[in-house]
Amino acid sequence: MMLRMSTLLLRTLREDPADAEVPSHRLLLRAGYIRRAAPGGYTWLPLGKLVLDRVTEVVRTEMTAIGGQEVHFPALLPAEPYQTSGRWAEYGDDIFTLADRRGAAHLLGPTHEELAALLVQDLFTSYRDLPVTLFQIQTKFRDEARPRAGLLRGREFLMKDAYSFDLDESGLAEAYARHRAAYQRIFDRLGLEYTVVTAMSGAMGGSVSEEFLAATPVGEDSYVACTSCGYAANTEAVGTPAPPAGDPDAHPAATVHDTPDTPTIATLVDLANARRLGGRDDWTAADTLKNVVLSVRRPGVDEAEMLVIGVPGDREVDLKRVGAALHPATATVFDGFADRPELVRGYIGPQVLAKLGIRYLVDPRVVAGTAWLTGANEPGRHAVDVVCGRDFVPDGTIEAAEVRAGDPCPACPTGELTMRRGIEVGHVFQLGRRFTDAFGVDVLGPAGKPVRPVMGCYGIGISRLVATIAEQHHDERGLCWPTTVAPCDVHLVAAGKGPQLDAALDLGGRLAAAGLRVLVDDRTHVSAGVKFTDAELIGVPRTVVVGRRLADGYVELRDRVSGERTELPVAELVDTLT
Ligand code: ATP
Ligand code: MG
Ligand code: MG
Ligand code: MG
Repeated sequence: MMLRMSTLLLRTLREDPADAEVPSHRLLLRAGYIRRAAPGGYTWLPLGKLVLDRVTEVVRTEMTAIGGQEVHFPALLPAEPYQTSGRWAEYGDDIFTLADRRGAAHLLGPTHEELAALLVQDLFTSYRDLPVTLFQIQTKFRDEARPRAGLLRGREFLMKDAYSFDLDESGLAEAYARHRAAYQRIFDRLGLEYTVVTAMSGAMGGSVSEEFLAATPVGEDSYVACTSCGYAANTEAVGTPAPPAGDPDAHPAATVHDTPDTPTIATLVDLANARRLGGRDDWTAADTLKNVVLSVRRPGVDEAEMLVIGVPGDREVDLKRVGAALHPATATVFDGFADRPELVRGYIGPQVLAKLGIRYLVDPRVVAGTAWLTGANEPGRHAVDVVCGRDFVPDGTIEAAEVRAGDPCPACPTGELTMRRGIEVGHVFQLGRRFTDAFGVDVLGPAGKPVRPVMGCYGIGISRLVATIAEQHHDERGLCWPTTVAPCDVHLVAAGKGPQLDAALDLGGRLAAAGLRVLVDDRTHVSAGVKFTDAELIGVPRTVVVGRRLADGYVELRDRVSGERTELPVAELVDTLT
């Protein structure tokens, strides 16, 4: 493949686009990989599409290698299966719904557990048909409360979603371990630095669940990691036991936790009134803190009890939305507060939390961004258990601070927890029978009795991955793609016209014939300087400059990451690069 810059659909930008908040978003726009087309919706330009396809292929290869069979469900779906499973109501405003010309309710698929369960019911009748793992790579739709950061949180995005069906829990545990291992191979191949953390299962229901969080300060998830053992957990899930990992064959049966308690209005009222028990009333300096969600945990309770503190003054917290952002069940609870906003204005200090027996963590964004929280308290003591809802990022600059949570590690005797930020790139769940129960999916067992399969589901945000890789692989001059996902293997720059241009095109053709993906800058109306700047912005791993030294039979090879430059005889180039 040889792409020519003279005809490529590409306009690089010198300036940072005003609405791009994070490095990946800025650089992907500036280097001509994507264009914004709609709120939370992006057009992939040719270079971007090449990267997206390469990431997709890595995911597809590893999913196929663990026996996954690729299918493709429709994205436009009738409401009924989602009403049957209960997710129509749980997702609420987070899904796009529409009616067809006859008025029948539909939705655009946010994930496809229902369809996968129905497909197995449709086709399979016997225990001999199982186990099976289906996967698809498809555009998903979610009406995110806050689409942000370009591809990182879109309303339309590409996901790989997989569904496993097994006869029993031990089969599920094996399928889960296989997916977990495949995810590690995928993220390793993509050059990501990531941590596997214990997670809450959110809108999916189910029990055991882990997330793959790519470390970066712009991530919306915060997690704790132990300083001495391997324990790591999303701050939403601290206290949830980590699922057993390791060799699929040696994997023990999945543990099923009890259904978590749903917070009651009474608890929330108690907590919201807690400022009378010792909180502060002088709010005035709190302007930088907006719509903070407090997520309060008691040791031994899986699910977060939740409490919302509104900021003082003129801002109201949309409780229902905040509640649903953390756990759908709480949206209903917050209904009870609709007409009592005064109940949720307050400040809760450590003494109150201690009185209530509540364990807490401090979100580094809040500590770093909010003077009053640290200032108003004794040094070294943080004020509250603050976990910002994912959809409510406080304004102001957030430092990438690593904060000691103070808590001892729940998994080892010596370690302490540190708090970090990450982007959720993948999520694996042991779902159990929620969806097979909902549709009464059974197969005939060996003894002629019906057996209800157990499900696992496994997601990877493919378009989010493109931005995440860019987030971890760039410098001040532009993108620095890992070789596994770069849009091209070589970027040939013809520094001048005439013989230099001819030689660049000739070399490009020969490298392409040797199987490399080649980008040739054959533009005649821009200076060599502009071409070099663009090459660094675009971030292909190796650049070959065909310039003045061509007359002596030499070209220059530049390494994007190290900046290293070497001269090479033209005659050796193809052999060196292939
Ligand atoms: P988040 O917590 O970031 O909202 P999620 O937990 O709702 O993600 P899942 O339902 O677990 O997402 O979906 C599987 C994967 O899809 C996620 O791990 C993530 O990589 C990706 N994903 C989810 N929402 C988006 C989005 N709005 N834009 C891009 N990718 C997304
Ligand atoms: Mg989400
Ligand atoms: Mg999540
Ligand atoms: Mg998730």
